[in-house]
Amino acid sequence: MCIIKGIVSIFLSALIALSGLIGMTGDKGTENEDYRTYKNVILMIGDGMGFNTIAATKATKTPNLAMDNMPVLCESETRSFTNRVTDSAAGATALACGVRTYNGAIGVYLFAPLANKWHVPKSLTELAIENGKAAGVVTTDSTSGATPACFSAHTYERGNEKGISKDQLASELDLIWGAASESINAENCAENGFEYVTTATQMNALEAGTRSFAQFDWDDIANITNEKDTPRIDAMTEKAIELLNDDEDGFFLMVEGAHIDKFSHSNILDGSTSHVVEFSNAIQVALDFAAEDGDTLVLVTADHETGGITYNAETGEYYYTTGSHTGVNVPIYVSATDAGFVSGEAYKNCAIPVQLARVMGFDDEQFPSIKN
Ligand SMILES: [Zn+2]
Repeated sequence: MCIIKGIVSIFLSALIALSGLIGMTGDKGTENEDYRTYKNVILMIGDGMGFNTIAATKATKTPNLAMDNMPVLCESETRSFTNRVTDSAAGATALACGVRTYNGAIGVYLFAPLANKWHVPKSLTELAIENGKAAGVVTTDSTSGATPACFSAHTYERGNEKGISKDQLASELDLIWGAASESINAENCAENGFEYVTTATQMNALEAGTRSFAQFDWDDIANITNEKDTPRIDAMTEKAIELLNDDEDGFFLMVEGAHIDKFSHSNILDGSTSHVVEFSNAIQVALDFAAEDGDTLVLVTADHETGGITYNAETGEYYYTTGSHTGVNVPIYVSATDAGFVSGEAYKNCAIPVQLARVMGFDDEQFPSIKN
């Protein structure tokens, strides 16, 4: 068994080395050696949030969004290895692990069925934890959704909710917060050292040093009703930062605004743009912390655009052209000009975590995707 595993590992290492040549992994644009290191990194993913999702929000909701105050605006090329148009699983695998893979993959390589559990790419959360930093995942999706899953699990099928939850419970993350997922309950949280949380009151009462798994009401989060003592994404972000910042080695936090994508799938522009505003409020919380802290980098991007939102110059309105994802570039906003990202440049999605790992002071020994 061990010999087989060894041979498979060598074979897979060779494949990974080759993969750099065929565009599966990515370093495009991050050759920039001119950057400083940051103790803390907050990566914020607006699921399905394209340039025109933001433009439509400004036209219909508010002209002022938190992203406008970020000094670097560049672009992410979102395709997956297998598809010109990615799904959220391959998109988040690229953003978490620095590798391009097939649609549906949760933190695994292209050749996953063979490799699962034996040879998986390291995520930014695992990188942070291995090196003594605190790590957290916050989402408005179910905690087993594709985006949070890629930062806390490895499995070859995004629908494997049980496997994702099992990995999350076995993980060393300090917090995993989002809407409720089927397999997570008070019992298995207690067994795995997580405080089980279902309300904003319980979340706000958490103290540093306590690991927590939050399972909030789905409808309350999705509809921004927040009537059942459910926190909004800005409150979740604020509390998560407070808890993680207790670690003197620093922290990595991923925050996802999930319903921008979900409403765009249904072509409900008002719902999608309402969630852009919510997400912007969370970004403002992160930016305020970064400004005060001085050693925190905030990067905001999307996994892909959803809905093909287009501007009609005659009517002055934004409208949907599809109910699916599209392959257009999405924005990358960065809170500082000294993090190696350059305004106007376009980067492969998988180059983003590679640069974030470098910014946290890690090398290719610690985050192998750097050398690919
Ligand atoms: Zn979607």
